[in-house]
Amino acid sequence: MEPRTTRAAPLNAATQRFKPSGIRRIADLATKRLAAGQPLYPFHLGEPDVDTPAAIKAAAVAALEAGHVHYAPNAGIPALREAIAKDLRRRYPQAPVVGDQVIVSVGACEALTLAFMATLEPGTELVVPTPCWPNYLQTPILLGARVKQVAMRANYGFALDADAILSAVTDATRAIVINTPNNPSGNVASAATLRRLLDGARERGIWVIVDEIYRDLVYAAPAQGVWTEALPDDPLIYVNGFSKSYAMTGWRIGYAVGRPDAVTAMTRIHQALVTSVTTFVQHAALCALELHDEVAAMQRRYQGRLERIAPRLRAAGYDFPMPAGGFYLFPRVPAGYRDGDHFADVMLAEYGVALVPGSVFGEMHTDRFRLCFSCADDLLDRGTDLLIQALPIVAKG
Ligand code: PLP
Repeated sequence: MEPRTTRAAPLNAATQRFKPSGIRRIADLATKRLAAGQPLYPFHLGEPDVDTPAAIKAAAVAALEAGHVHYAPNAGIPALREAIAKDLRRRYPQAPVVGDQVIVSVGACEALTLAFMATLEPGTELVVPTPCWPNYLQTPILLGARVKQVAMRANYGFALDADAILSAVTDATRAIVINTPNNPSGNVASAATLRRLLDGARERGIWVIVDEIYRDLVYAAPAQGVWTEALPDDPLIYVNGFSKSYAMTGWRIGYAVGRPDAVTAMTRIHQALVTSVTTFVQHAALCALELHDEVAAMQRRYQGRLERIAPRLRAAGYDFPMPAGGFYLFPRVPAGYRDGDHFADVMLAEYGVALVPGSVFGEMHTDRFRLCFSCADDLLDRGTDLLIQALPIVAKG
């Protein structure tokens, strides 16, 4: 029988422009190593190595048993929306937030997608200070929008430069997205910078999208956040989630908080995309918001790991800004390697240390690599040994 050829309509061209994630490439190679029984030091993924606190799991089980297995209201169960608003007011008493301004999402990932979809459209532009989490560079492409990358300066620890960011704004700009504490640099924005950005956005009539997913993992600077500065009608869309603070990456729950017009737009999109977030997971998140001691323990654990690894790497010659938050280092590639891609390839193939090349975090950061220090102490120590061991070989070229 003759084979039949099926004609199909072309697929969305934007999906073809999507670059495969550089993190995924390293993750696939790392998985192959593990499958082959080779050692692996997993410094590549931003994945807490600890389990979700038992009380949160118990709350999910109780919610299942209580029959919370049906669709939830689109924007989230009212108790959780209110608890998120209350949590923000507890941390920042002046925060002008009420439950109606909260939308519960499938991770911070979906909250960011909603923020981009609500603000961008073909021909418009998103201004992105780099280095940044790669999704900010990719998702707008699907919407036919342009991304304007603005590189922050390494000699200032990649601190957000409000003037540089605002001077990149054009008539086509609809939004700026910032991440504080920053993945990958660990920089935490100052209150003055955040206020300057909000004022600048207000003057120019554009949105500021602020991703604070690492807010609870802060080491050096006093806990700052955009809510210390926000005024009731600021053009702000705030994004956060439960993945990092509560070791809940696999539960897929986060949220956005914004001005009512933005929340209405995001809720319409969210309704079309996912209807609502898994109902019993929302009940578990409600429990998580009560667990302040567990979050403090999470912060201490990562601070311990930072103190364990950073001085050793610096003493050996690695050059990086000391992170004030998050769980990443963003060092310069040592001499002798072409760039971050080359270094990451060699470190994985020859030493089993999985790192992410700097190119993933913006076009101007090819001379860097990202190291995540969220893995267990023994892996962290051995991986650090290997990074240090690699240096003399590198120096010889
Ligand atoms: N934003 C940043 C800066 C991240 O690093 C990550 C995950 O690594 C996310 C958002 C996604 O978080 P979630 O797991 O809540 O979707």
